[in-house]
Parts: sequence; structure tokens; C-alpha cells
Amino acid sequence: MAELRIELIAVGDELLMGMTLDTNSHYIAQSLAEAGLRLQRLIWVSDSEEAIVAALKESWERSDVIIVTGGLGPTHDDLTRPAIAAFFKDNLVVREDLRQDILKRFESRGLKPAPGWETMAEFPTGATAIPNERGAAPGIHYSRDGRELFAVPGVPSEMKGMTQQFIIQKLSAQRTGAYQFRVIKTIGVGESHLAQLIGDPTRLLPTTLAFLPSVDNGVTLRLSIYAEAGSEEEKSLNRSEAIVCRAVQRYIYATKETSLEAVIVEILRSKGLRLALAESCTGGMITSRIVNVPGSSDVLDRGLVTYSDRSKTELLGVDTGLIVEYGAVSEDVARAMAEGVRKRAGVDIGISVTGIAGPGGASDTKPVGLTYIGLSDQSGCVVNKYLFAGNRQENRRRSTLAALTLLHGYLVK
Ligand code: ATP
Repeated sequence: MAELRIELIAVGDELLMGMTLDTNSHYIAQSLAEAGLRLQRLIWVSDSEEAIVAALKESWERSDVIIVTGGLGPTHDDLTRPAIAAFFKDNLVVREDLRQDILKRFESRGLKPAPGWETMAEFPTGATAIPNERGAAPGIHYSRDGRELFAVPGVPSEMKGMTQQFIIQKLSAQRTGAYQFRVIKTIGVGESHLAQLIGDPTRLLPTTLAFLPSVDNGVTLRLSIYAEAGSEEEKSLNRSEAIVCRAVQRYIYATKETSLEAVIVEILRSKGLRLALAESCTGGMITSRIVNVPGSSDVLDRGLVTYSDRSKTELLGVDTGLIVEYGAVSEDVARAMAEGVRKRAGVDIGISVTGIAGPGGASDTKPVGLTYIGLSDQSGCVVNKYLFAGNRQENRRRSTLAALTLLHGYLVK
């Protein structure tokens, strides 16, 4: 059976005006993918009956399933219900059972029914109601001409409940194959170099390959395929994964959904090593990422933000003479910071970062983006020099990734 063609229509002027971030679509797309289903198209439309009907017409032509979110409430701008009724040429009639349900819902919570609440019980004659356990407005379900339409409220908690308890269940029961994927997470390498190492992507067919670069996590490679269980296509996914892993082996830090910091914490724990950090321009970002990992207290002793020259001297023991001679952003100071934090904390590894995040602070010899990252252990200290080309926030995030990359490389070498 071919893959289900699923389209999503998100209704709301607030989405088109950039006032509300469309997290509903993100949630629905993610939930579908987790269930082996894939969204093929996403459409935003305004709170207009005409616009919703036009979008429904277009989507109905080219898809098997339409999901609509938003516009099911009781106010004058909630027009999804009349639009769906008009599209299917059905009437809206008050359903007494739904009316009672909605009324009971308000009563059970000790609330006075919201003005206009009865409009939520006006339901298209050919539809079935999707129960709403978290709110008043019922969802709408049509099954017609071998196609399905689901309409759920815009309120995220109500949308989530109906997506999980109704839509995913119905669609999972219908599909025979599944959209499957693998992730290969890399650091310390750009996407063009990865592409070069992997070579002609057509040799991975029918598996498709996507490059997903991120300032915080390096480049994730995603291999995907729609396949029936036990089919030849399914085997091609494993074969492609092996080919790609072999080609980019030395840059891989994970082959599952996890974070770089979680991988680092796990290696530190398994080796019984402890860490201390001295951060300047990153202002605690590296420490924060490590602390995000549950159980990081096993491996992290401290993370100091030593922003001023004085704090570098007072808290890390950096010689004032070094700062005067070479400047706070220098290889010598980065080394002294990494060694200082490691020795004062009495731990195995010290990491330091000192850089010019910008936009100010540059000089003739030290441009914006210049950053030094040090790693100290009992046998010595390495300091790497970087020149990042982003704005202030990007430079700070790239410095954080570079420090984690340096640490990961040290731990796996
Ligand atoms: P209501 O009963 O509140 O009118 P509804 O189904 O009519 O529910 P909307 O009026 O479209 O839904 O949206 C209600 C609220 O839900 C919005 O104010 C917004 O905060 C949130 N919301 C709507 N659509 C989305 C979306 N796509 N992503 C995230 N939040 C959304």
C-alpha cells in the first residue's frame, strides 16, 4: 500500500501575523513521524470561511488525510466548523448530545457557560464528533470517498489530546508500511565535507539522505525511507546506514536521538573523570548544557563565569602579568584559565574559553570572533584558536559547541 498523503491546515490570523508560534503543527508533525507517518504539506490560512474552504478543496484533491487545527471555539472568528460543513455541503445542526456534554463540562468545573457556547454544539450533519477530554469544543471527523478529515481545536492541550487519542490511533490502524529513519550525529566537520566523504547519494537509493546542520549540535545526517515491514526497502535503510557510518566514522558522536552533552557526561562517568569549567565569553553556556543532563553532578565539579580580568586572577589564579602582556583573549590566558580551574577544583579535566563575541571589543590584531579554548589535564594543556564569523549570540553558541567538541575528542581518542 502506498504511503498515506497527509496534509495539515493550521487556521489563525495570529499565525500569519507572527503573533503565535505554530507549535501545534510542530507537535502534529512530530507525533505523525513517531508513528511512522509523514506530513506532506502544511498550509496556514486566515480566520476566513472562504480561505478555509479554498484550502480544504486544494488539499482534498491531492491527499488521503487532512488535519485541521484551530477555529473550533465559540467566538465569531472561529470559522472552521461552518467552513467544513460548507465544503462537504452539509448543514450545521445543534446536536443535543454534544450540547449536554459541553454544558456538563462547564458545570463539573463550577464554571458559568462561556458566552456563545451553544455554537460549539452546532455540528456538521455528516460528521462524527471527536471527544475533547481537555476542553469544551468537540473535534470533527469525516470519513468520505476513502479519505479522512480531522479538525481539532487550536488550544494546544486540547489539540494534543485529540491527536494522540484519536488521530494517531485511527491512522496507525490504516497504514501497512511506515516512514522510518535513522540519525547519525556528527561534530567537528561541515556539511560539504560530509557530502564529499559520503559521495554520490544516489547509491543510497531508495533511502534518502538529509543534512541537518545546527550551530549547537554539529551536523545531523538523517536517512529515511517509507517501507512495508520486512520489505527489501527496509533492508536498504540498514545498508545505507552502514555505508554512511563507514564514510564519516571519525566525526560521529551518536547514532540515536541524544545530545552531545549527554554523550560527554556518559563517557566521563564511565571513565570516572571529573570536570571543571572556566568560561568568559560563553557566560556559563557550556556549564548549562552539561547541567541539563540528569546526573551531571557525578562528573561536574564547578563552572565559573570569569568575565573580568580581576575574576580570572582571583578565582583561577591567572597571573596579572600574562593578561597585561598578551591580553585576556590569548592563548596564554586560556591555558592559565584551564590549568587554574582544574587545579583549584582538584579535578581531572579543566576547560577554559576566552574570546571576543562582538560586536565591540576588537582591536587591530584581535578581530571579533577570535576565541581560544583550553583543555588541561594532569599531563598538559592544549589550546585551540578559532575565528568565528557570526553575531554575538552565534559566536557564543559556536564557542560552546567547539569546547564540547574538543572535550569529546579528548575523551574518545
Ligand atoms: P478556542 O475555544 O480558544 O477559540 P479554537 O479551536 O477556536 O479554540 P483558536 O481560537 O484558533 O482555537 O486558538 C486558541 C488559542 O490556541 C490561540 O489563542 C493560541 O494561543 C493557541 N493556538 C491556536 N493555534 C495554534 C497553533 N497552530 N500553534 C500554537 N498555538 C495555537
